[in-house]
Amino acid sequence: MTTRTRSWWGWGNVEDALSAGENEALTARVSAVLPGADLSNHVAPDPRNLPVAASRVALPDALAGLASDDSVDRLAHSHGQAFRDVVRALRGELTDVPDLVVRPGCEADVVAVLEWASDAGVAVLPFGGGSSVVGGVEPRGCGDYPGVVSLDLGHLDLVLEVDDISRAARVQAGVFGPDLEEQLRPTELTLRHFPQSFEFSTVGGWLATRAGGHFASGYTHIDDLTESLRVVTPAGVSESRRLPGSGAGPSSDRLFLGSEGALGVITEAWLRLQARPRWRAAASVSFADYDAGVAATRAIAQSGLFPSNCRLLDPVEAFLNAGGVPATVLVLGFESADHPVEPWMSRALELCRDFGGDAPEGLRYTDAEAGAVGGSPIAAGDTWRSSFLRMPYQRDALAARSMIVETFETACTWSGFEQLRSGVVAAAEDALRQLGLVGVVSCRFSHVYPDGPAPYFGVYAAGTWGKTVQQWDEIKAAVSDALIANGGTITHHHAIGRDHRPWYDQQRPELFAQTLRASKRVLDPARILNPGVLVD
Ligand SMILES: Cc1cc2nc3c(=O)[nH]c(=O)nc-3n(C[C@H](O)[C@H](O)[C@H](O)COP(=O)(O)OP(=O)(O)OC[C@H]3O[C@@H](n4cnc5c(N)ncnc54)[C@H](O)[C@@H]3O)c2cc1C
Repeated sequence: MTTRTRSWWGWGNVEDALSAGENEALTARVSAVLPGADLSNHVAPDPRNLPVAASRVALPDALAGLASDDSVDRLAHSHGQAFRDVVRALRGELTDVPDLVVRPGCEADVVAVLEWASDAGVAVLPFGGGSSVVGGVEPRGCGDYPGVVSLDLGHLDLVLEVDDISRAARVQAGVFGPDLEEQLRPTELTLRHFPQSFEFSTVGGWLATRAGGHFASGYTHIDDLTESLRVVTPAGVSESRRLPGSGAGPSSDRLFLGSEGALGVITEAWLRLQARPRWRAAASVSFADYDAGVAATRAIAQSGLFPSNCRLLDPVEAFLNAGGVPATVLVLGFESADHPVEPWMSRALELCRDFGGDAPEGLRYTDAEAGAVGGSPIAAGDTWRSSFLRMPYQRDALAARSMIVETFETACTWSGFEQLRSGVVAAAEDALRQLGLVGVVSCRFSHVYPDGPAPYFGVYAAGTWGKTVQQWDEIKAAVSDALIANGGTITHHHAIGRDHRPWYDQQRPELFAQTLRASKRVLDPARILNPGVLVD
């Protein structure tokens, strides 16, 4: 087995970073779109050479074995994986570093650490995989605290119990995606929750951020897969009852889902499982006209077919990430553990044809058990899927070459989509112009619902080395204003963290904000949990 080394500054494993050939192809591609861009490569510093202040706190003797004050460990826990995190790490500009990284070995350790921290007034930031893209794990704004601890749940990594009759599993919060699926393998069941960050994020992180998996419709949000939660708060432990549904008042799980470490530490959850899919069908549909592609996607979203993949790529997105010619492309997929899915795909293709959609390669289908494969290869669909997993590595390679490469996402109604898209694209282009930058803005749908899409935007621009974080922050502020002004949400599945707070505060009803503050007072009276996240 090949050993893998986690990158301290960027996405994933060092060994999986872009090869020389991939880097060359990528820079050639960018040069074609942005001629004249300075694409010189900048290399990350050795973290051992970065200045990190001495740790200000120590755990009591009984807990001391859980703590690390190693500077590289602390640096790796000082940031998430957004573009701005990666660039700041590349430049060695990480200023807010936790004093300790603490790794509880069991739930009792979590209780003890929170007790100690509440008494000492030390801030505690729960940490899963650290893949936050919204400043969720970064101790920014914790300057008034005498110390900051990053509480890494990575040692709570077991599937504790499986109820195969009800199809659910009791899972510890710190387990990473691949390890979870590996432990479930003997049951032949799966959680079937696959965010793009699957490999480097944890169950606790998914629950705390209300993560969205890569399936476009149906059960794809972790919320829908949650049967019950166990949460350690400074005020005690909250555990909900396992139920398939309940009308008994507001849901306590809904309070903790999306609480981003500010109300408690999720230690366990019962999660709903499914049979592993056997039948799959895929197709790629091209549209001459973007609006026709949107109309066809809406028809499919409202048809009750519930595709597993339904990604409408605009021409920029199709060109940059699917390797095709600039055209509107709908990447479609269906899958089932119970029945062949060609009829569903055929009906979806019929709906596409109603709007002028053309699937020249037809549909491809597989039956995993019979090993049967039919139809011709789907070039754009396949290319898109493999590039989906390489995207974060490409993002890092481009970030090191002074490019601004970042995404932001939202959701809106179908009736409001056109206004939202044009408002957001205009805001991004205007921000680029004001910064004197040349760039492009792309859009794809990550999820679709009967009442609206979740548009996922990308901004790609040639930035100025040393200024790209500041330049991105200006673009991000402009597009965030546009999202709120045009009726969207500040985030569909990336959470709020520290970066989205100003816009979340505008979006949520004031009475709900007061209710959250009251909950925080009850659950975390010393205000030690992830300060600045959700509430002040
Ligand atoms: C390349 C890339 C792709 C991504 N793709 C997706 C995607 O497809 N879908 C999606 O939804 N998101 C995506 N994200 C965002 C991110 O992966 C998710 O927010 C993920 O759920 C975070 O999980 P994590 O374990 O890394 O949590 P962390 O980043 O460690 O933490 C995230 C937040 O949750 C809190 N937290 C973590 N664990 C716990 C716990 N046990 N109890 C209480 N609070 C806790 C932290 O304090 C923090 O506020 C992506 C990010 C990157 C960098």
